[in-house]
Amino acid sequence: MSQWFDPLLQLIFPDRCLYCRSILPSGTGRPLCSPCEKKFTAAGLFCPGCERFYRQRRECSCCRAGIPLQALFALSSYEQQWRILLHGLKYHRRRTLARPFGRLLGYEILEHQFCNPDLVVPVPLHVRREKERGFNQSRLIAYHTGQVLGKPVQSILFKNRDTLSQTALSRPERLENVRGAFSCNSPLPEGSEVLVIDDIYSTGSTIKEAAAALQSCGLKVYGAVLAYNPRAQ
Ligand SMILES: [Zn+2]
Ligand SMILES: [Zn+2]
Repeated sequence: MSQWFDPLLQLIFPDRCLYCRSILPSGTGRPLCSPCEKKFTAAGLFCPGCERFYRQRRECSCCRAGIPLQALFALSSYEQQWRILLHGLKYHRRRTLARPFGRLLGYEILEHQFCNPDLVVPVPLHVRREKERGFNQSRLIAYHTGQVLGKPVQSILFKNRDTLSQTALSRPERLENVRGAFSCNSPLPEGSEVLVIDDIYSTGSTIKEAAAALQSCGLKVYGAVLAYNPRAQ
């Protein structure tokens, strides 16, 4: 996007609070108005092994052997207003939500300082699924997160085959459903760090499989999602 296009867009569509949709003063960084900001606390980092949120420490003693993620971050739990907003973005095609979501994720990642990626990578949809929906919500979110982080965003992951929707499947079925579903075409030197972004973490099978493909390209992978939904397990 060219330099003048984004400010122009902001003039026509000013930034609104993610929660209450009130218009934010121009130049506001975080996409929450002050009353909503007071009510918001990020869910934070959780263990890629046992999937429990870290409280104080950043480490967990559980076994993480074979897990291709260095760290995982969730902006929120998948509940109440958050669930409604995510539904809006994903199923009611409210694309305008991707900007405040992606920006808030970016600001929280900066605050939590758990990674310093060379590249931000969205979890891809299969071409057919993306055509159906008209967009890939993870790519829209990643674009805005990358802008806040000041990092490039590139779709270097590809979905090899169209998989069933994960929502109706059990945990073992979800794992099987996405096994080998992603491939990676990395322009980065080995050992580079990437941040993979998805909308919702349920059993984690999708983001872990995506991370495994990135790891097989020699990359060190961190993950961030908008919402963590443990009830789906
Ligand atoms: Zn608000
Ligand atoms: Zn753990």
